[in-house]
Amino acid sequence: MIDSHLHLLDPQFDADREAAITRARVEGVRVMVEIGLTVESSRRAVEFAEAHEGVYAVVGFHPNHASEARPGDVDELLKLAAHPKVVAWGEIGMDFFREYAPRSAQEPLFREQIRAAKLADLPIVVHQRSAEEDVLDILEEEGASEKRPVDLHCFGSGPEVAARMAPQNYYFGYGGTITYGRKNQVSPASEALAVIPRERILLETDSPYLAPIPHRGRRNEPALLRHTAAALAEALGLRVRELEELTDANARKFFHRLPAPAGA
Ligand SMILES: [Zn+2]
Ligand SMILES: [Zn+2]
Repeated sequence: MIDSHLHLLDPQFDADREAAITRARVEGVRVMVEIGLTVESSRRAVEFAEAHEGVYAVVGFHPNHASEARPGDVDELLKLAAHPKVVAWGEIGMDFFREYAPRSAQEPLFREQIRAAKLADLPIVVHQRSAEEDVLDILEEEGASEKRPVDLHCFGSGPEVAARMAPQNYYFGYGGTITYGRKNQVSPASEALAVIPRERILLETDSPYLAPIPHRGRRNEPALLRHTAAALAEALGLRVRELEELTDANARKFFHRLPAPAGA
């Protein structure tokens, strides 16, 4: 399996980072994609990927850190983007949920990074919270998916958004939230599965956040990806094995720089 979005460099893994990687491998998670949040954390993500087989990096400035961005930072990220273990640009977008940064800081940084990702010929990993309409409009205005695809990570929207973005080469990142509240109620994101082409679904943990049931509320880690895979397989009427093969193939198509798996 491929965990398309995680943050193993989060301090919550300081005590057992290497063990978490080992546990993930034991559970069949062979590829882990570490996501940057600032220039410094992106640099650390690249170093982390360099030091670990099967770990890759995504570089970018997260909207919650937009106030920390300095002129020249996107140029620094462009330099990092040339590293062979960097497989996408992100996570970028806008977040008005907690407003760590004002919109006047978030929007220009978002637009600048969409352009930089195109320059770097990388797919884009998008984060949005309480900013859906604005983020989708900006992505379309900037032609974000013209060269490479876009991943709407932690996808929580409904069928309308899926139907709008899927034809434009968008991917949809499904994580632990798909395991929440199923059976008694249908979430918009599970309804959206009816209109999302299967070849556009990505699996992610977003560790250390959003642990799947039965680990909800505790620290998430890539070894728990199988719970999300099982829930997604059930929602799609697939066997877990089929779901794993499908999402692996999807991730390899999205992250075009990922090398072919050994033995393939
Ligand atoms: Zn995010
Ligand atoms: Zn994230």
